[in-house]
Amino acid sequence: MLTTRPRGTNDILPGEVEKWQYLEELARQVCREYGYGEVRTPVFEHTELFARGVGETTDIVEKEMYTFTDRGDRSITLRPEGTAAAVRAYVENKLYAMPQPIKLFYIGPMFRYDRPQAGRYRQFHQFGVEVFGSDSPAVDAEVIAMAMDIYERIGLKDLELHINSVGCPDCRPILREKLQEHFRPHLANLCPNCQGRFERNPLRILDCKNEKCQNIGRHAPTTLDALCAACDSHFELVKSYLDAVGVQYIVDNRLVRGLDYYTRTAFEIMARDIGAQSSVGGGGRYNGLIEECGGPPTPGIGFALGLERILLTAERQGITFPVTRGPAVFIATVGTEVEKQAFTLLQQLRRQGIAAEKDYLGRSLKAQMKYAGKLDARLVIILGEEEVARGVAVVRDMQAGEQQEVPMGGMVDYIKAKS
Ligand code: AMP
Repeated sequence: MLTTRPRGTNDILPGEVEKWQYLEELARQVCREYGYGEVRTPVFEHTELFARGVGETTDIVEKEMYTFTDRGDRSITLRPEGTAAAVRAYVENKLYAMPQPIKLFYIGPMFRYDRPQAGRYRQFHQFGVEVFGSDSPAVDAEVIAMAMDIYERIGLKDLELHINSVGCPDCRPILREKLQEHFRPHLANLCPNCQGRFERNPLRILDCKNEKCQNIGRHAPTTLDALCAACDSHFELVKSYLDAVGVQYIVDNRLVRGLDYYTRTAFEIMARDIGAQSSVGGGGRYNGLIEECGGPPTPGIGFALGLERILLTAERQGITFPVTRGPAVFIATVGTEVEKQAFTLLQQLRRQGIAAEKDYLGRSLKAQMKYAGKLDARLVIILGEEEVARGVAVVRDMQAGEQQEVPMGGMVDYIKAKS
Protein backbone atom coordinates (compact mmCIF):
# COMPACT_ATOMS: atom_id res chain seq x y z
CA MET A 1 0.00 0.00 0.00
CA LEU A 2 2.76 2.40 0.98
CA THR A 3 4.32 2.24 -2.46
CA THR A 4 1.18 1.91 -4.54
CA ARG A 5 -1.03 4.79 -5.60
CA PRO A 6 -4.81 4.43 -5.26
CA ARG A 7 -6.53 2.62 -8.15
CA GLY A 8 -7.55 4.88 -11.00
CA THR A 9 -4.98 7.60 -10.27
CA ASN A 10 -1.78 8.52 -12.12
CA ASP A 11 1.63 9.99 -11.41
CA ILE A 12 2.60 12.44 -14.13
CA LEU A 13 6.37 12.48 -14.20
CA PRO A 14 8.97 14.70 -15.89
CA GLY A 15 9.19 13.57 -19.49
CA GLU A 16 5.39 13.28 -19.58
CA VAL A 17 4.44 16.42 -17.68
CA GLU A 18 5.84 18.68 -20.42
CA LYS A 19 2.99 17.53 -22.68
CA TRP A 20 0.51 18.53 -19.98
CA GLN A 21 2.13 21.93 -19.62
CA TYR A 22 2.01 22.41 -23.37
CA LEU A 23 -1.68 21.48 -23.49
CA GLU A 24 -2.53 23.72 -20.55
CA GLU A 25 -0.65 26.65 -22.05
CA LEU A 26 -2.42 26.13 -25.37
CA ALA A 27 -5.79 26.10 -23.59
CA ARG A 28 -4.86 29.29 -21.70
CA GLN A 29 -3.78 30.99 -24.94
CA VAL A 30 -7.06 30.10 -26.65
CA CYS A 31 -8.95 31.43 -23.60
CA ARG A 32 -7.11 34.75 -23.86
CA GLU A 33 -8.12 35.01 -27.50
CA TYR A 34 -11.76 34.16 -26.79
CA GLY A 35 -12.01 36.39 -23.72
CA TYR A 36 -12.32 33.80 -20.92
CA GLY A 37 -10.89 34.48 -17.45
CA GLU A 38 -9.60 31.72 -15.20
CA VAL A 39 -11.53 30.71 -12.09
CA ARG A 40 -9.98 28.53 -9.38
CA THR A 41 -12.54 26.96 -7.09
CA PRO A 42 -11.97 24.49 -4.23
CA VAL A 43 -11.32 20.86 -5.02
CA PHE A 44 -14.08 19.95 -2.56
CA GLU A 45 -17.52 21.45 -2.05
CA HIS A 46 -20.62 20.78 0.03
CA THR A 47 -22.19 17.55 -1.27
CA GLU A 48 -25.49 19.36 -1.67
CA LEU A 49 -24.03 21.50 -4.49
CA PHE A 50 -23.41 18.48 -6.71
CA ALA A 51 -26.65 16.74 -5.77
CA ARG A 52 -28.44 19.89 -6.94
CA GLY A 53 -26.09 21.08 -9.65
CA VAL A 54 -25.27 17.79 -11.38
CA GLY A 55 -28.63 16.13 -10.72
CA GLU A 56 -29.92 13.41 -8.41
CA THR A 57 -30.62 10.98 -11.26
CA THR A 58 -27.17 11.10 -12.83
CA ASP A 59 -24.62 8.27 -12.65
CA ILE A 60 -22.23 10.76 -11.09
CA VAL A 61 -24.45 11.53 -8.12
CA GLU A 62 -26.01 8.07 -7.85
CA LYS A 63 -22.78 6.10 -7.71
CA GLU A 64 -19.57 7.94 -8.52
CA MET A 65 -18.97 10.67 -5.95
CA TYR A 66 -16.17 10.70 -3.43
CA THR A 67 -18.23 11.81 -0.46
CA PHE A 68 -17.11 11.91 3.15
CA THR A 69 -18.06 13.48 6.43
CA ASP A 70 -15.44 15.93 7.64
CA ARG A 71 -14.40 16.43 11.25
CA GLY A 72 -17.08 19.09 11.64
CA ASP A 73 -19.79 16.59 10.60
CA ARG A 74 -20.39 18.20 7.20
CA SER A 75 -20.94 16.16 4.07
CA ILE A 76 -18.16 17.05 1.66
CA THR A 77 -17.56 15.80 -1.89
CA LEU A 78 -14.46 15.94 -4.07
CA ARG A 79 -15.61 17.73 -7.21
CA PRO A 80 -16.68 15.29 -9.94
CA GLU A 81 -16.95 18.07 -12.56
CA GLY A 82 -16.39 21.80 -12.85
CA THR A 83 -19.69 23.42 -13.77
CA ALA A 84 -21.50 23.27 -10.43
CA ALA A 85 -18.60 24.96 -8.63
CA ALA A 86 -18.31 27.66 -11.31
CA VAL A 87 -22.04 28.34 -10.91
CA ARG A 88 -21.64 28.48 -7.13
CA ALA A 89 -18.75 30.94 -7.50
CA TYR A 90 -20.80 33.06 -9.93
CA VAL A 91 -23.68 33.28 -7.46
CA GLU A 92 -21.64 33.57 -4.25
CA ASN A 93 -19.39 36.31 -5.66
CA LYS A 94 -22.35 38.11 -7.28
CA LEU A 95 -20.75 38.04 -10.71
CA TYR A 96 -24.29 38.48 -12.06
CA ALA A 97 -24.04 42.15 -11.00
CA MET A 98 -21.16 42.66 -13.46
CA PRO A 99 -21.51 43.28 -17.20
CA GLN A 100 -22.74 40.06 -18.82
CA PRO A 101 -21.87 37.60 -20.15
CA ILE A 102 -19.27 36.31 -17.70
CA LYS A 103 -16.85 33.96 -19.44
CA LEU A 104 -14.82 31.66 -17.20
CA PHE A 105 -12.44 28.75 -17.67
CA TYR A 106 -10.86 26.20 -15.32
CA ILE A 107 -8.22 23.49 -15.50
CA GLY A 108 -7.85 20.91 -12.77
CA PRO A 109 -8.41 17.46 -11.31
CA MET A 110 -11.88 15.91 -11.01
CA PHE A 111 -12.82 12.81 -9.02
CA ARG A 112 -15.26 10.04 -9.90
CA TYR A 113 -15.50 6.58 -8.39
CA ASP A 114 -15.70 4.91 -11.80
CA ARG A 115 -14.40 1.53 -13.01
CA PRO A 116 -10.87 2.35 -14.16
CA GLN A 117 -9.74 1.37 -17.66
CA ALA A 118 -7.76 2.97 -20.49
CA GLY A 119 -8.99 6.56 -20.68
CA ARG A 120 -11.11 6.31 -17.54
CA TYR A 121 -9.67 7.19 -14.17
CA ARG A 122 -10.84 8.06 -10.68
CA GLN A 123 -8.77 11.22 -10.65
CA PHE A 124 -8.67 12.81 -14.08
CA HIS A 125 -8.24 16.32 -15.42
CA GLN A 126 -10.58 18.61 -17.25
CA PHE A 127 -10.22 21.89 -19.03
CA GLY A 128 -13.59 23.58 -19.19
CA VAL A 129 -15.31 26.87 -19.94
CA GLU A 130 -18.60 28.40 -18.84
CA VAL A 131 -20.50 31.39 -20.21
CA PHE A 132 -23.10 32.88 -17.88
CA GLY A 133 -25.71 35.47 -18.79
CA SER A 134 -26.46 35.06 -22.49
CA ASP A 135 -29.02 32.89 -24.23
CA SER A 136 -27.77 33.79 -27.70
CA PRO A 137 -27.33 30.80 -30.04
CA ALA A 138 -24.13 32.53 -31.19
CA VAL A 139 -22.67 31.79 -27.74
CA ASP A 140 -23.52 28.09 -28.16
CA ALA A 141 -21.70 28.20 -31.48
CA GLU A 142 -18.74 30.08 -29.98
CA VAL A 143 -18.33 27.54 -27.20
CA ILE A 144 -18.52 24.61 -29.62
CA ALA A 145 -16.20 26.26 -32.15
CA MET A 146 -13.73 27.04 -29.38
CA ALA A 147 -13.57 23.38 -28.32
CA MET A 148 -13.01 22.34 -31.94
CA ASP A 149 -10.38 25.07 -32.34
CA ILE A 150 -8.42 23.61 -29.44
CA TYR A 151 -8.47 20.07 -30.84
CA GLU A 152 -7.39 21.42 -34.20
CA ARG A 153 -4.46 23.36 -32.75
CA ILE A 154 -3.34 20.24 -30.91
CA GLY A 155 -3.46 18.49 -34.27
CA LEU A 156 -6.10 15.85 -33.46
CA LYS A 157 -7.71 14.31 -36.52
CA ASP A 158 -10.88 12.37 -37.30
CA LEU A 159 -12.97 13.81 -34.51
CA GLU A 160 -16.74 13.69 -34.67
CA LEU A 161 -18.79 16.51 -33.22
CA HIS A 162 -22.27 15.34 -32.26
CA ILE A 163 -24.90 17.95 -31.44
CA ASN A 164 -28.48 17.80 -30.27
CA SER A 165 -31.13 19.87 -28.57
CA VAL A 166 -32.69 18.43 -25.44
CA GLY A 167 -35.42 21.07 -25.21
CA CYS A 168 -36.49 23.27 -22.34
CA PRO A 169 -39.01 23.14 -19.46
CA ASP A 170 -41.75 23.92 -22.02
CA CYS A 171 -41.08 20.97 -24.29
CA ARG A 172 -39.67 18.50 -21.76
CA PRO A 173 -43.09 17.46 -20.36
CA ILE A 174 -44.23 16.50 -23.86
CA LEU A 175 -41.05 14.53 -24.46
CA ARG A 176 -41.33 12.96 -21.04
CA GLU A 177 -44.83 11.74 -21.82
CA LYS A 178 -43.79 10.36 -25.20
CA LEU A 179 -40.83 8.58 -23.64
CA GLN A 180 -42.87 7.11 -20.80
CA GLU A 181 -45.38 5.86 -23.35
CA HIS A 182 -42.54 4.14 -25.17
CA PHE A 183 -40.86 2.64 -22.13
CA ARG A 184 -43.97 1.66 -20.09
CA PRO A 185 -44.50 -1.75 -21.78
CA HIS A 186 -40.79 -2.57 -21.22
CA LEU A 187 -40.53 -1.30 -17.67
CA ALA A 188 -39.84 -4.74 -16.15
CA ASN A 189 -36.92 -5.28 -18.56
CA LEU A 190 -35.12 -2.04 -17.77
CA CYS A 191 -32.19 -2.06 -15.35
CA PRO A 192 -33.07 -1.12 -11.73
CA ASN A 193 -31.52 2.32 -12.23
CA CYS A 194 -33.66 3.05 -15.27
CA GLN A 195 -36.78 1.75 -13.53
CA GLY A 196 -36.19 4.58 -11.07
CA ARG A 197 -35.44 7.03 -13.86
CA PHE A 198 -38.72 6.17 -15.59
CA GLU A 199 -40.59 8.42 -13.18
CA ARG A 200 -37.87 10.86 -12.24
CA ASN A 201 -36.24 11.56 -15.62
CA PRO A 202 -37.03 9.15 -18.47
CA LEU A 203 -34.74 11.09 -20.84
CA ARG A 204 -31.81 9.67 -18.90
CA ILE A 205 -32.78 6.12 -19.91
CA LEU A 206 -31.49 6.99 -23.40
CA ASP A 207 -28.07 7.60 -21.81
CA CYS A 208 -27.90 4.25 -19.95
CA LYS A 209 -24.89 2.05 -20.71
CA ASN A 210 -26.85 -1.17 -20.07
CA GLU A 211 -27.29 -3.10 -23.33
CA LYS A 212 -30.90 -4.10 -22.61
CA CYS A 213 -31.86 -0.49 -21.87
CA GLN A 214 -30.06 0.64 -25.02
CA ASN A 215 -31.98 -1.88 -27.14
CA ILE A 216 -35.30 -0.88 -25.65
CA GLY A 217 -34.42 2.77 -26.18
CA ARG A 218 -33.35 2.31 -29.78
CA HIS A 219 -36.77 3.19 -31.23
CA ALA A 220 -37.82 5.61 -28.54
CA PRO A 221 -39.03 9.05 -29.62
CA THR A 222 -36.19 11.54 -29.84
CA THR A 223 -35.72 14.93 -28.29
CA LEU A 224 -36.10 16.56 -31.69
CA ASP A 225 -39.63 15.11 -32.02
CA ALA A 226 -40.79 17.22 -29.11
CA LEU A 227 -39.01 20.59 -29.42
CA CYS A 228 -41.11 23.71 -28.97
CA ALA A 229 -40.87 26.45 -31.59
CA ALA A 230 -38.41 28.53 -29.56
CA CYS A 231 -36.04 25.59 -28.97
CA ASP A 232 -36.36 24.54 -32.58
CA SER A 233 -35.38 27.97 -33.86
CA HIS A 234 -32.54 28.21 -31.33
CA PHE A 235 -31.15 24.89 -32.58
CA GLU A 236 -31.47 25.99 -36.21
CA LEU A 237 -29.53 29.17 -35.44
CA VAL A 238 -26.76 27.29 -33.58
CA LYS A 239 -26.34 25.07 -36.64
CA SER A 240 -26.31 28.04 -39.00
CA TYR A 241 -23.57 29.78 -36.95
CA LEU A 242 -21.51 26.59 -37.00
CA ASP A 243 -22.05 26.35 -40.76
CA ALA A 244 -20.92 29.95 -41.14
CA VAL A 245 -17.53 29.19 -39.59
CA GLY A 246 -17.14 25.80 -41.24
CA VAL A 247 -17.46 23.64 -38.12
CA GLN A 248 -18.72 20.22 -39.20
CA TYR A 249 -21.18 18.35 -37.01
CA ILE A 250 -23.50 15.37 -36.91
CA VAL A 251 -26.99 15.91 -35.52
CA ASP A 252 -27.41 13.05 -33.07
CA ASN A 253 -30.91 13.04 -31.71
CA ARG A 254 -30.12 10.39 -29.10
CA LEU A 255 -27.44 12.47 -27.42
CA VAL A 256 -28.65 13.47 -23.96
CA ARG A 257 -25.33 13.60 -22.05
CA GLY A 258 -24.72 12.53 -18.51
CA LEU A 259 -25.87 15.56 -16.59
CA ASP A 260 -29.43 16.43 -15.63
CA TYR A 261 -29.25 20.14 -16.04
CA TYR A 262 -28.88 20.51 -19.79
CA THR A 263 -31.41 22.55 -21.73
CA ARG A 264 -31.41 23.05 -25.48
CA THR A 265 -27.93 22.51 -26.95
CA ALA A 266 -26.01 19.38 -25.93
CA PHE A 267 -22.83 18.27 -27.69
CA GLU A 268 -20.10 15.71 -27.47
CA ILE A 269 -16.84 15.20 -29.33
CA MET A 270 -15.69 11.66 -30.05
CA ALA A 271 -12.34 10.31 -31.17
CA ARG A 272 -12.36 7.09 -33.17
CA ASP A 273 -8.91 5.95 -32.08
CA ILE A 274 -9.19 5.51 -28.34
CA GLY A 275 -11.53 2.57 -27.91
CA ALA A 276 -14.52 2.37 -25.61
CA GLN A 277 -13.91 5.67 -23.83
CA SER A 278 -14.23 7.66 -27.04
CA SER A 279 -15.57 10.94 -25.69
CA VAL A 280 -12.82 13.56 -25.62
CA GLY A 281 -15.13 16.35 -24.52
CA GLY A 282 -18.66 17.57 -24.28
CA GLY A 283 -20.95 20.19 -22.95
CA GLY A 284 -24.20 21.99 -23.31
CA ARG A 285 -26.57 24.70 -22.28
CA TYR A 286 -28.03 24.72 -18.76
CA ASN A 287 -30.47 27.62 -18.56
CA GLY A 288 -32.11 26.46 -15.32
CA LEU A 289 -29.01 25.61 -13.32
CA ILE A 290 -28.03 28.97 -11.88
CA GLU A 291 -31.49 29.54 -10.48
CA GLU A 292 -31.52 25.94 -9.20
CA CYS A 293 -28.32 26.76 -7.31
CA GLY A 294 -29.80 29.84 -5.63
CA GLY A 295 -28.90 32.56 -8.15
CA PRO A 296 -31.07 34.84 -10.26
CA PRO A 297 -32.56 33.25 -13.42
CA THR A 298 -29.54 33.28 -15.73
CA PRO A 299 -28.77 31.27 -18.86
CA GLY A 300 -25.48 29.37 -19.06
CA ILE A 301 -23.51 27.11 -21.35
CA GLY A 302 -20.16 25.34 -21.15
CA PHE A 303 -17.97 22.41 -22.05
CA ALA A 304 -15.34 20.21 -20.46
CA LEU A 305 -12.53 18.43 -22.27
CA GLY A 306 -10.73 15.45 -20.75
CA LEU A 307 -6.98 16.05 -20.79
CA GLU A 308 -6.03 12.36 -20.36
CA ARG A 309 -8.27 11.43 -23.30
CA ILE A 310 -6.78 14.18 -25.47
CA LEU A 311 -3.26 12.96 -24.71
CA LEU A 312 -4.28 9.36 -25.36
CA THR A 313 -5.78 10.30 -28.72
CA ALA A 314 -2.72 12.36 -29.63
CA GLU A 315 -0.50 9.40 -28.78
CA ARG A 316 -2.58 6.97 -30.84
CA GLN A 317 -2.50 9.41 -33.76
CA GLY A 318 1.27 9.83 -33.52
CA ILE A 319 1.08 13.52 -32.70
CA THR A 320 4.13 14.95 -30.98
CA PHE A 321 4.22 18.15 -28.98
CA PRO A 322 6.82 20.89 -29.40
CA VAL A 323 8.30 20.45 -25.93
CA THR A 324 11.85 21.35 -24.91
CA ARG A 325 13.64 19.04 -22.58
CA GLY A 326 17.10 18.97 -21.09
CA PRO A 327 19.37 21.85 -20.15
CA ALA A 328 20.86 24.17 -22.75
CA VAL A 329 24.22 23.81 -21.04
CA PHE A 330 25.97 21.22 -18.91
CA ILE A 331 29.09 22.26 -17.01
CA ALA A 332 31.64 19.49 -16.68
CA THR A 333 34.64 19.84 -14.36
CA VAL A 334 38.06 18.30 -14.21
CA GLY A 335 39.63 18.52 -10.74
CA THR A 336 38.18 19.84 -7.51
CA GLU A 337 39.88 23.26 -7.85
CA VAL A 338 37.34 24.42 -10.44
CA GLU A 339 34.22 23.31 -8.56
CA LYS A 340 33.51 26.77 -7.19
CA GLN A 341 33.97 28.44 -10.59
CA ALA A 342 31.63 25.86 -12.09
CA PHE A 343 29.00 26.53 -9.44
CA THR A 344 29.32 30.32 -9.93
CA LEU A 345 29.03 30.02 -13.72
CA LEU A 346 26.02 27.74 -13.31
CA GLN A 347 24.19 30.40 -11.34
CA GLN A 348 25.24 33.20 -13.73
CA LEU A 349 23.80 31.26 -16.67
CA ARG A 350 20.56 30.51 -14.86
CA ARG A 351 20.13 34.17 -13.91
CA GLN A 352 20.36 34.96 -17.62
CA GLY A 353 17.48 32.56 -18.23
CA ILE A 354 19.66 29.77 -19.61
CA ALA A 355 18.82 26.27 -18.34
CA ALA A 356 22.08 24.92 -16.93
CA GLU A 357 23.11 21.81 -14.97
CA LYS A 358 26.25 20.24 -13.49
CA ASP A 359 27.30 16.99 -11.91
CA TYR A 360 26.76 16.51 -8.19
CA LEU A 361 28.06 12.97 -7.79
CA GLY A 362 31.79 13.46 -8.37
CA ARG A 363 31.73 11.63 -11.73
CA SER A 364 34.79 11.29 -13.93
CA LEU A 365 34.93 13.54 -17.03
CA LYS A 366 33.96 10.61 -19.23
CA ALA A 367 30.97 9.83 -17.00
CA GLN A 368 30.00 13.52 -16.92
CA MET A 369 29.97 13.65 -20.73
CA LYS A 370 27.78 10.55 -20.82
CA TYR A 371 25.46 12.04 -18.21
CA ALA A 372 25.24 15.32 -20.20
CA GLY A 373 24.23 13.23 -23.22
CA LYS A 374 21.53 11.47 -21.19
CA LEU A 375 20.19 14.83 -20.02
CA ASP A 376 20.09 15.92 -23.67
CA ALA A 377 22.27 19.00 -23.06
CA ARG A 378 23.06 20.90 -26.24
CA LEU A 379 26.33 22.44 -25.05
CA VAL A 380 28.90 21.26 -22.53
CA ILE A 381 31.34 23.68 -20.93
CA ILE A 382 34.41 21.78 -19.76
CA LEU A 383 36.23 23.52 -16.93
CA GLY A 384 39.72 22.07 -16.58
CA GLU A 385 42.16 23.31 -13.95
CA GLU A 386 44.83 24.07 -16.52
CA GLU A 387 42.47 25.91 -18.91
CA VAL A 388 40.83 27.91 -16.14
CA ALA A 389 44.30 28.98 -14.97
CA ARG A 390 44.72 30.40 -18.50
CA GLY A 391 41.30 32.12 -18.26
CA VAL A 392 39.56 29.88 -20.81
CA ALA A 393 37.29 26.84 -20.99
CA VAL A 394 36.32 24.40 -23.73
CA VAL A 395 32.76 24.53 -25.06
CA ARG A 396 31.54 21.43 -26.86
CA ASP A 397 28.54 21.46 -29.17
CA MET A 398 27.03 18.03 -28.55
CA GLN A 399 25.05 17.89 -31.79
CA ALA A 400 27.79 19.10 -34.12
CA GLY A 401 30.46 17.23 -32.15
CA GLU A 402 32.74 20.30 -32.38
CA GLN A 403 34.50 22.14 -29.60
CA GLN A 404 36.44 25.36 -29.10
CA GLU A 405 38.14 27.39 -26.40
CA VAL A 406 36.21 30.39 -25.11
CA PRO A 407 37.51 33.06 -22.68
CA MET A 408 35.86 32.68 -19.26
CA GLY A 409 35.14 36.44 -19.13
CA GLY A 410 32.93 36.27 -22.23
CA MET A 411 31.42 32.84 -21.50
CA VAL A 412 27.91 33.94 -20.54
CA ASP A 413 27.57 36.14 -23.65
CA TYR A 414 28.98 33.36 -25.84
CA ILE A 415 26.47 30.82 -24.49
CA LYS A 416 23.64 33.34 -24.79
CA ALA A 417 24.45 33.91 -28.44
CA LYS A 418 24.61 30.15 -29.05
CA SER A 419 21.39 29.15 -27.27
P1 AMP B 1 -18.41 14.91 -18.52
O1 AMP B 1 -18.11 15.88 -17.41
O2 AMP B 1 -18.84 13.56 -18.03
O3 AMP B 1 -19.26 15.49 -19.58
O4 AMP B 1 -16.99 14.62 -19.21
C1 AMP B 1 -16.33 15.54 -20.01
C2 AMP B 1 -15.06 14.92 -20.50
O5 AMP B 1 -14.22 14.57 -19.40
C3 AMP B 1 -15.27 13.60 -21.23
O6 AMP B 1 -15.53 13.84 -22.59
C4 AMP B 1 -13.97 12.89 -21.03
O7 AMP B 1 -13.03 13.36 -22.00
C5 AMP B 1 -13.52 13.37 -19.67
N1 AMP B 1 -13.83 12.38 -18.63
C6 AMP B 1 -14.99 12.16 -18.00
N2 AMP B 1 -14.88 11.19 -17.08
C7 AMP B 1 -13.60 10.76 -17.12
C8 AMP B 1 -12.85 9.76 -16.41
N3 AMP B 1 -13.40 9.01 -15.45
N4 AMP B 1 -11.54 9.61 -16.73
C9 AMP B 1 -10.96 10.36 -17.70
N5 AMP B 1 -11.62 11.31 -18.39
C10 AMP B 1 -12.92 11.50 -18.12
